[in-house]
Amino acid sequence: YTGKNGSQLLSEKVKKIRVHEYASLPVVVSASNSVYDAICTMFLEDVGTLFVIDKHKHLVGVLSRKDLLRASMGKQEIHQIPVNIIMTRMPNITVCKKEDLLIDVALKLMEKQIDSIPVVKETSMDDVFEVIGRVTKTNMTKALVDIACDNLDLQ
Ligand code: ADP
Repeated sequence: YTGKNGSQLLSEKVKKIRVHEYASLPVVVSASNSVYDAICTMFLEDVGTLFVIDKHKHLVGVLSRKDLLRASMGKQEIHQIPVNIIMTRMPNITVCKKEDLLIDVALKLMEKQIDSIPVVKETSMDDVFEVIGRVTKTNMTKALVDIACDNLDLQ
């Protein structure tokens, strides 16, 4: 008998969940794509956040729904503006790694008040990342349901 109560055991279980267990595939656009292209991708792929990559497939930006709405409200032609003009860019992007604890990523989503965080892999260069996944509030909701339904693997 461990002497731990139910809530301590639950909390320990939650703190064992890693990002890779809940992450989704990333949806990316290229930095030279137009705002119009990005809007089409967002609709077709049914996501709320797009990650922007350069020609080496490195993460250079993030595009939210409101970033694209804001760009569409201006006088500029959305077919002409490339997304790299309007995106949130590196190094101001909050990222996570696949081995990170899911709870730490949940805290980042709350602190930064954002909907999505790219899961990245380091490269040989500092602050240059490859995007391998995404963690969104939807993934967090799934984790919450699994916890409540006791679907977590007991390890
Ligand atoms: P929305 O803007 O549609 O409400 P978010 O709350 O996710 O969606 O985004 C708010 C702002 O934060 C946007 O300008 C977006 O580019 C930026 N942003 C979104 N995700 C990240 C992230 N992981 N790191 C840094 N900035 C981000």
